[in-house]
Order: sequence, then C-alpha cells, then structure tokens
Amino acid sequence: MKKSLLYLFLGIFLGATGLHGVRALRTELRKRHVAKVESARIDWAVQTNSNGASKVHFRNRFSACDDELLLNYFNLKRDRKTPTVKAEANLEIWNRFVLLYEQWPQGLKNYCEQYVSHVYVVSKLGSSAYALQKNDSSFIILIDREAMESLPNDWFTDRERTAVELAAGYTIDHRIEGDSNNRPEFTLETLLIHEVAHCIGITTNQTRKFDSSWEKLGQNSLLEGVFQVSKVSVEMTPENQEHFDDLHYYRDQRLSTEEYIKRFGSLRNSPFPTMYSSVNDLEYFADYFYAYVHCIVQQRPLEYSVYRNGQKVVGIDCGISLPHHEKRRTIISNILSELDTLNN
Ligand SMILES: [Zn+2]
Repeated sequence: MKKSLLYLFLGIFLGATGLHGVRALRTELRKRHVAKVESARIDWAVQTNSNGASKVHFRNRFSACDDELLLNYFNLKRDRKTPTVKAEANLEIWNRFVLLYEQWPQGLKNYCEQYVSHVYVVSKLGSSAYALQKNDSSFIILIDREAMESLPNDWFTDRERTAVELAAGYTIDHRIEGDSNNRPEFTLETLLIHEVAHCIGITTNQTRKFDSSWEKLGQNSLLEGVFQVSKVSVEMTPENQEHFDDLHYYRDQRLSTEEYIKRFGSLRNSPFPTMYSSVNDLEYFADYFYAYVHCIVQQRPLEYSVYRNGQKVVGIDCGISLPHHEKRRTIISNILSELDTLNN
C-alpha cells in the first residue's frame, strides 16, 4: 500500500515536471543513489578499519565472502535484480593459482603480503573482479566465482564481445594464453594481477583513488601524454580521444564491427597495450601494469584476432614490447623495483 502511494506521488511529480524536470529528477535520484552507495562504502571501510593485512601469508587469504555489509554494498552499487551473493571458495583453482603466485615478481608478492588483506570470492559480482580500499590503506579484492572458473582465452574474448556488436559473418578469437596454459588458474592470475595493479596505482600515487580523489600525482606518471590530469578531471588527450574514445564494456552501448576493427589499426602505435586499457585512466594503469607483467616479465601472449567468414582480417599482438613503449615500460619496471624493497 505504502509503495503504490509512493509510485502515485512520483507519477504526479513526473507528470507535473515536464521533460526538463524529468531529466533533473533523474539526475537528482542518481546523485542520491551515488551518495547512498558512497556512504555504504564508507560504512564498510570504517567497520573494517582494524582488520588490515595480517601476518597470514597471502596464499591463505582467500575465502568465501561472509561480510554481509560488503555484499550489501555491492547490491546497492550495482542496483540490479541479481544480487551479489556468497559463493563457496573454489580452493582447487586457488591452490593451483598459488603455485603461479610463487613465480610472480618479488615486488608484486611483497606488495600483496603487505597491502592485500583478503581475496573474497562471491557470485554475481557484476564484473569479473573488484578492488576496494579500507580505512587502514590496505585493500581487499573480490573475485567473481563464474569468472575465476572460466578459461583465460574464453574470459578475454567474452569480455571483448561485450564491447562490440559483431556483424553477421564476423567472429573474434583473442588470446592471452597458449593452449597448455588455457586453464582457470591462469584466469584467476590475470584477474588478480589487474586488481593488485589498481591497488599499486593508488599506493604509489600513480592513479587517483577509487573515490576519484588525488593525493598527489607521482613523479614519472604513466598517464603522461595519454591523459590530461588536473585537480578536477582526468581526460584522454585529444589525439588519443580521436581513436580510442567511447569504448564501453559490459554495457548496451557497443562499437560497430567496423569501428572495432579500425581501432586495431591504431592500437600497436598507440600508448594503449590492450583495448581495455583505453576505458579510462584507472583501467589504463591497471591493464598496462598487467600487460607488462604478463607479456614482458612472464613472456605470455596477448593477441587479438578477428575473422570474417573464417578469413583473418585482424591478427596483431599488443605491441607493448615495441620501442615507443620504452619509457612507460621503464616506469612499471621501476615501480616493481621499488616494491622489491618493501619489508615483510
Ligand atoms: Zn580494472
């Protein structure tokens, strides 16, 4: 009864405000929603303040998410009909991942031991993975169970599929692993390196924080020449905007097949090592860091292929080893060396 009354009032209000009013109302409701989501995040961060990274080894920090407050935060944030829920932690995949983790660059492991207090698995996260910062400056990472159980090449190609409307006759087959590594623990590794990179970006002042605030922009910023950074905004530089703007994943707005293919023509000569890294400045840093570790340190593939009626029309690697990436590769390599000196 109460609910229908509210709808009635809302209906009258909407009816009386006209088109401009409706838009203003929508903006207002959206702002209130964002404010509510932000306060849920702060509530959560405050309540977990004293629960920072502990002496427990990173390999033992994986579990099902039993933090109701955190799950509620996601349900508020995502505002969807399928809520984020608890999922049993898939220890089989995690244990196989731990063997890969042992091979990670030392700096990356040091960072995880000191700054990542927990890796939680949930179901219906709304994205493959997500990082959150707590009040004590440590981070937690959430992993979507369905994503961590998928094969890396399927996961990578499926993500790209959400950004493009493939015309009839076109197929894509992108790869981040050779056939022998096309197993779920490698998907989990990819998800974690990307999320840990988000955290590193904040800790080292290379990126803004998740709430968009800047402490200070670090020296030798990876964003230099790619994004214009001011106190109030971060925008892609005009020359990059021309080729890489308007790319969205997991949303209704998709690129046409033609526009999608055109981007691959520019990708290897651009500062973007992956298509996904052109989404925004935060994703740029995280995916650049990932591509560096994955392709340069671990010597693994990152290749894009598009086919038309079975004929290859795009076949490129990500180009991060090309000379024009040298300065940026040095920045990432220096960050990793700095992290080498972190004490555990
Ligand atoms: Zn990301």
